[in-house]
Amino acid sequence: MDPLRPEEPGCGSGCGPDAPADARGHAPPVPQFLIHHRHAANDCGAVFASFHGFDSPLRRTSTLSSCQCGGHDIWWSVEADDVAAALGLLPFYVAARATVTRVDAVRIP
Ligand SMILES: [Zn+2]
Repeated sequence: MDPLRPEEPGCGSGCGPDAPADARGHAPPVPQFLIHHRHAANDCGAVFASFHGFDSPLRRTSTLSSCQCGGHDIWWSVEADDVAAALGLLPFYVAARATVTRVDAVRIP
């Protein structure tokens, strides 16, 4: 058993591993990803301009960036079906210079 993913209460006998998650009335969790994009200082304008005309739920939202702090990194925390879908939230110019990491919430003791 993964210690970071304890079994859900009430999911013992009678709840086989092949049972779909929504059989208990819960939708399966949507995977979360952390996208990290880095660009050179002279590419900063092109990165932000690439969002113009690109249809994405990330447009007109806030996220963390180091562009005004001396670095040129941008991070997005997104929900997506898989890595390709996560990258699909970004214009090609940005996605081609990004890495995607599957993440999940964890409680810090
Ligand atoms: Zn920048």
